[in-house]
Amino acid sequence: MNAPQNSFAVMPDLAARMPRIPPNRVWVWRVLYALRAMWRHIRVTRPVTALLGPQYRRSRDLLEIDITYLCNLHCDNCNRSVSQARDTMHMPLESVVAFVDEWVRRGKRWRRIRVLGGEPTLHPEFQSIVRELLRYREWHPACIVEVVSNGYGPRVIRELEALPPDVMVDNTAKTGPMQPHFGPFNLAPVDDPRYLLTDYRNACSIARDCGMGLTPMGYYPCAVAGGIDRIAGAGLGALSLPDDGDDMTTAVESLCRLCGRFRDGHFVPRVLRPRLEEERVSRSWRALYERWHAAKAEGRQPVAMTVNGRPVDSAKPGGAA
Ligand code: SF4
Ligand code: SF4
Repeated sequence: MNAPQNSFAVMPDLAARMPRIPPNRVWVWRVLYALRAMWRHIRVTRPVTALLGPQYRRSRDLLEIDITYLCNLHCDNCNRSVSQARDTMHMPLESVVAFVDEWVRRGKRWRRIRVLGGEPTLHPEFQSIVRELLRYREWHPACIVEVVSNGYGPRVIRELEALPPDVMVDNTAKTGPMQPHFGPFNLAPVDDPRYLLTDYRNACSIARDCGMGLTPMGYYPCAVAGGIDRIAGAGLGALSLPDDGDDMTTAVESLCRLCGRFRDGHFVPRVLRPRLEEERVSRSWRALYERWHAAKAEGRQPVAMTVNGRPVDSAKPGGAA
């Protein structure tokens, strides 16, 4: 493996928001996180949001690029729907070239760019995409370029070993499709009566701490949101980089309501997460996947969906070109 550490080792502010818990004090953290969960539930209600504004806004200097939805593992509860809705959709190399040109032209200085998927090393032009990002880094040398990989299988390992040594690798070292520490991504809060009073503009800490997302469908407040839109077909991706003044509120409001990550809303240390050994899918997601598979079988793009009677694309996509 080329890089001995992932980017969190050199980004202490981000690492502090995702603490590792000492085993002798777990109960203290359990209490603290139970209180934090209660506060999250109150914080995202409409009255509190009207008073305090959204709890999280998308990052302006962290970016995650999902270059493919192809993967060689099909984990339960994958938050890109890679196993629930299998696809070989890739981001073309030409798009990456155009995005890099745009960032340089507009003076966009990313602090970190992470390359993900799906399994990014399976993109047929993976190494060329990384080289394009290194072209960007020649212009902005402080930018961290990092690949996030499942580290599974000989092809993936070969691609990781072929990376230049100054590209960081976050190897999650998965060994199979069962990931009991994952959350129930397909339990849409909008299907849960406890979220009746919720303002979905609150997003979650992923939009702030992992960064905004860039996918084959365009820019999103986070890469998970882009993965949701791949299934919903609402076309909420922005085709050019949104201005820093744009919170991408329409995409947040429309897509976070479907996202199981909205429930916790913040990073929960692995030791405190309940084990999840099944795939749990709520009503809206069942309908979305059925529509997606039907469209796929007929060779058409999935059409925009409604969720609980509300159109996912009820407003114009913010920032779309
Ligand atoms: S390895 Fe990652 S992208 Fe692939 S199915 Fe598992 S969670 Fe999803
Ligand atoms: S709730 Fe889901 S879609 Fe919304 S910001 Fe968090 S991870 Fe992204």
